[in-house]
Amino acid sequence: MSTIKAVRGTRDLLPPETELWNRVEGVARKVFERYGFGEIRTPLFETTELFVRGVGEETDVVSKEMYTWEDRARAASEKAQSLTLRPENTAGVVRAYIEHKMDAAGGLRKLFYIGPQFRRERPQRGRYRQFWQIGAEVLGPVSSGAESAVRDAEVLEMLASLLDELGVKGWRLEVNSVGSSTDRPRYVAALRAALEPVKDQMCEDNRRRAETNPLRVLDSKAPEDQEIINGLPKIADYLDEASKEHFAQVLKALDACGVAYHVNPRLVRGLDYYTRTTFEFTVPDGSGLGTQNALLGGGRYDGLSEMLGGPKAPGIGFAIGEDRLILILQEQAAEQAESKMDAYIAPVGVEQNAAALALARELRRDGLRVEVGDGSFRLKKSFEAADKVAKAVVILGEDEVASGNLKVKRFATGEQRDVSRTELGAYLHGDQ
Ligand code: AMP
Repeated sequence: MSTIKAVRGTRDLLPPETELWNRVEGVARKVFERYGFGEIRTPLFETTELFVRGVGEETDVVSKEMYTWEDRARAASEKAQSLTLRPENTAGVVRAYIEHKMDAAGGLRKLFYIGPQFRRERPQRGRYRQFWQIGAEVLGPVSSGAESAVRDAEVLEMLASLLDELGVKGWRLEVNSVGSSTDRPRYVAALRAALEPVKDQMCEDNRRRAETNPLRVLDSKAPEDQEIINGLPKIADYLDEASKEHFAQVLKALDACGVAYHVNPRLVRGLDYYTRTTFEFTVPDGSGLGTQNALLGGGRYDGLSEMLGGPKAPGIGFAIGEDRLILILQEQAAEQAESKMDAYIAPVGVEQNAAALALARELRRDGLRVEVGDGSFRLKKSFEAADKVAKAVVILGEDEVASGNLKVKRFATGEQRDVSRTELGAYLHGDQ
């Protein structure tokens, strides 16, 4: 008999990998708590109408990727209805916000979720049909300040802190503004007009998008279409004064917090509900995600609550692709395991062992990876041991301990020089 396998695009998560999933979720929960977020758990399936109205009928997610079925009535009191496995969680959170009258208290609501989402996409590394998202939403009545650029900057700063805390290296924040609900249609009209004479020269996908959802053309990575896309109108030229000012405030706050960002005028994102700020955090190519280098995405959705029949409740949120986050952390850990330590401290005699440990502690606290030798070794043996495991060796004899001037040799270049103890950290980090 043939064996039964997991459905294409879905997978089992097994120990020990699940430990990493739990660690990541634990760090996320702690960070969310520090910023005042509470957990929300919404159903895995909702009415199809929620996503059609919330996410948008013409989006790829709704038009092509949803798991939708007609749910039969089981009793005369029930109606047959179209249901859908949630492809994302923002629409569900906003539905719950409206349903439970969370606006009644008048304040800002900060909600986070962790859970699976479902999209019928072409499976590949970092892209699955059941995948996990860690996300959060900040929303409330206008009087709560939910529209303020402070909220956007706070969410972005929180994400930067979360990625740093998880140890994700080399992330890059890309931001843009897609304007208000009146700016966007003006821009889409301009885009449509600009695409009209050139769309026949584009690939089939973009030809279709030019008709159905021209914003999606900007997302396209098709190499043959890049020249045309770069020449299309930019949304920044279509923003009204209020949206421009809002975006400027977000960037100013990010500058003040020291969060680095890149403005990407093509970042419009695939879902219809976005207004004003949109963003993505990416990781460098070669981080183990292949072409799926978007680690998380999000933005502001000031009209979503009204689109779902609720009160005015501007908001901003994001979703991290947890599967991708885990892949990156695994890849980076494997690279680290293969790479050499930053330094090997070689005490010249046993009398310097304690000083060597003290120096190692100092350097490790500075973020360096450090190994310590033993003063009972002959110097030659220390050098050999150091060369195997570290990029540099630091010699620690009686004179060096007394003077604070240390001899350092870099194995890659063979360069040997005296470095003062105060400058040693920077030298080993490669800053000098
Ligand atoms: P979106 O909801 O499309 O804005 O996606 C937010 C994040 O979820 C993306 O940046 C990805 O990291 C992740 N994501 C989206 N679709 C998938 C998928 N099919 N498989 C794995 N991760 C996904």
